Amino acid sequence: MNDHGGERTALVQVCQRLQVSGLVAATDGNVSCRVGSERFLVTPSGKSKGELLPLDMLLVDLQGEVLQGRSRPSSEIRMHTLIYARRPDIRAIVHAHPPMLTAFTLASIPFMAEALPEVYLSFGSVPTAPYATPTTDEVPRSIEALVADHQAILLERHGAVTMGATPHDALLRLEKLEHAAHTLFYAHLLSHGALQPLPKDLLGKLDALFY
Ligand SMILES: [Zn+2]
Repeated sequence: MNDHGGERTALVQVCQRLQVSGLVAATDGNVSCRVGSERFLVTPSGKSKGELLPLDMLLVDLQGEVLQGRSRPSSEIRMHTLIYARRPDIRAIVHAHPPMLTAFTLASIPFMAEALPEVYLSFGSVPTAPYATPTTDEVPRSIEALVADHQAILLERHGAVTMGATPHDALLRLEKLEHAAHTLFYAHLLSHGALQPLPKDLLGKLDALFY
């Protein structure tokens, strides 16, 4: 039964840190980890992330069908299946409700990754997907056009999703984004909303570091 023990443990550790960091509350959020080209482990629906055990993780296929485990998979399972189907390079996904990132989407203020060089270097641009009714097919549809080119997407009035090579990697991306959102919040306040991105020529120098 305890297939993929390392991945299950990694998911539990990420879930606990999400809870402790306040990136989720109650039963919010979901985390998954690919364990093959056609299957992945995902958190169950309706459970507190901080209380999950390795064997609580469900093994599902790319259609979201449960292959191993006794409970229902996360209500946002279709967001995970879409990302894994479209991005063979992605091996882990974290979805949470980080307060500051979510507040930016509530205020209709775009996340200005282009203002912080190290954030821009890590993420490029960070788009906000249009509002979608949580737990429905609207959620995967809302991110469909963004999945190919981004590893972090904000969900309007909902939260954020990050992708990575491991659950820990996706978690670190989410923590970095939420931390940056706090900095941007203060900057928006101090500049009375006049915060500017780096000029194009300086963004170009950052782009050049990738090549
Ligand atoms: Zn959510």
